[in-house]
Amino acid sequence: MNKMTVKDLDIKGKKVIIRADFNVPLDKNLKITDDRRIQASMPTIKYVLDNGASKVILMSHLGRPKGDGPEDEFRLTPVAVRLQELLGEKVLKLDDCIGDDVKAKIAGSQERVILLENLRFYKQEKKNDPEFAKSLASLADVYVDDAFGTAHRAHASVAGITEYLPSGAGFLLEKEIRYLGGVVTNPERPLVVILGGAKVSDKITLVENLIKKSDAILIGGGMAYTFLKSQGKNVGNSKLEADKVEIAGELLEKAKAAGVNMVLTTDFLVVEAFDKPETRKIVTDIPDGWESLDIGPETREKFKEVLATAKTIVWNGPVGVFEVDEYAEGTKDIAEYIATLKDVTSIVGGGDSAAAVSKFNVEDAMTHISTGGGASLEFLEGKELPGIAALKDK
Ligand code: AMP
Repeated sequence: MNKMTVKDLDIKGKKVIIRADFNVPLDKNLKITDDRRIQASMPTIKYVLDNGASKVILMSHLGRPKGDGPEDEFRLTPVAVRLQELLGEKVLKLDDCIGDDVKAKIAGSQERVILLENLRFYKQEKKNDPEFAKSLASLADVYVDDAFGTAHRAHASVAGITEYLPSGAGFLLEKEIRYLGGVVTNPERPLVVILGGAKVSDKITLVENLIKKSDAILIGGGMAYTFLKSQGKNVGNSKLEADKVEIAGELLEKAKAAGVNMVLTTDFLVVEAFDKPETRKIVTDIPDGWESLDIGPETREKFKEVLATAKTIVWNGPVGVFEVDEYAEGTKDIAEYIATLKDVTSIVGGGDSAAAVSKFNVEDAMTHISTGGGASLEFLEGKELPGIAALKDK
């Protein structure tokens, strides 16, 4: 990767501001229910501390505040508590993210680590407002971006700020660029892509881009039925995007022309209704009135045969409704199978596929699990991400 990273920056004795992704889920008592995003930022924070930075100033957004001032439910206080535990040292949590008071508190702080308040309490953050970016930049000497989850957004703390400070990627962002960037530019072949999830419409650009790069594309999940419909198959009451049938057909044609092995679901786990799991059965032709919620055993074997040939696997989207145990078998089987494969780079796109891999306890067996849902999708679509584009080449 040829972008500047934290290792290329002079941080000794400097105040380093790090944009992290601390957008963690909170329950109604404002307790963090999953701290993986905070944990994921630890290597960069620790590196900066261990390499002589005088202060580490951390910033993030959390949730979706309105953007016209503080809202208690979106304060970063719970994050400060967890950071403190993970770092084993006191973290100074401030109630704002810009201004003279913030500057004075940073200057007077005993603590090495300071956490600013939610960036999105200011609407200027999402607008990439230059004055706001400048105010953030004025708090530090050096900027490190470690927030892959927001890399697809040109926000002030990700894009604008790089205009004013020497900037580089943190380790988390670097890893995302290395793995996802590797898939887009020069994947080790064969590249097998497995796609699922709810909607075709979300993934048209992705399929188009991946047809140019992959050797095989396996399609399961809710998006499969629109493709099957384009082939004249019965889909019963399964998820269907009627206005996307034509384009699904075109994508299949394009794949064929490009010599990409596109594998669709051939057998299905169907039910009479979503809330009637007791009616489930395996069919190869979906009966009228029935709904398919998972791939069947024959499809699982077909998918596995192709996966076995891969040197690189990209997985984006569950192949069934894995959140419900009765409909989870396909996704579980595929996840566990990928985990057994040797000599393969396995990359899991963020969001639901990452949740599935975690649910089935095979996280450690994957080469890379992306921390960004939308960002990883856009990266794999071949789009330039503003948060990465903003960083200078070495
Ligand atoms: P996405 O956010 O597009 O990755 O979609 C993920 C969602 O797709 C998950 O919540 C799954 O429950 C859902 N899904 C997967 N397979 C199916 C299916 N056969 N029918 C309906 N929804 C599905």
